[in-house]
Amino acid sequence: MKKAIFPGSFDPFHLGHLDILKRALPLFDEIVLAIGENSSKKYLFPLEKRLKMLNKLFENEPKVSVKSYSGLTARFCEQEGIQHILRGLRSSNDFDYEKSIAQLNNALSPNLDTLFFISPPHLSHVSSSIVREIMINNGDARQFLPQAFENFI
Ligand code: ADP
Repeated sequence: MKKAIFPGSFDPFHLGHLDILKRALPLFDEIVLAIGENSSKKYLFPLEKRLKMLNKLFENEPKVSVKSYSGLTARFCEQEGIQHILRGLRSSNDFDYEKSIAQLNNALSPNLDTLFFISPPHLSHVSSSIVREIMINNGDARQFLPQAFENFI
């Protein structure tokens, strides 16, 4: 069974994330959407809410499971029996950052490989931080979010 993890803060999950997930789905039997929790980080959407939103979004997609974890992604992958990490690239800045993380994960767990999906031009400006900024300032961020989130925002 081919299993991958798509790890992230997903604060919140947006259409750029959804694009990656949809493109990766045909390649795997199961994708674990894993919310990484860092106790020293402040989130706009509490963990419980992010879990609820993602469970709602993928309630009819049996290949997607939603989990949360803390600590090293590499360790979580080992626990879950996962050897493939999915990540997205919007820009060369993303590439520099993601390259180090991918190399680090591979050093910690040599069977772990990271697969990168390049964002389409119409989504490369979308980020969770921009969505948060719009929401904090009472703007309407719905154009960047899945429709299933309507009742959560
Ligand atoms: P993290 O805090 O781990 O960076 P994010 O939730 O911000 O988590 O992002 C998770 C992944 O999704 C990262 O690999 C990030 O580069 C990617 N990503 C974020 N926004 C987009 C987008 N618009 N298009 C493609 N990939 C994206």
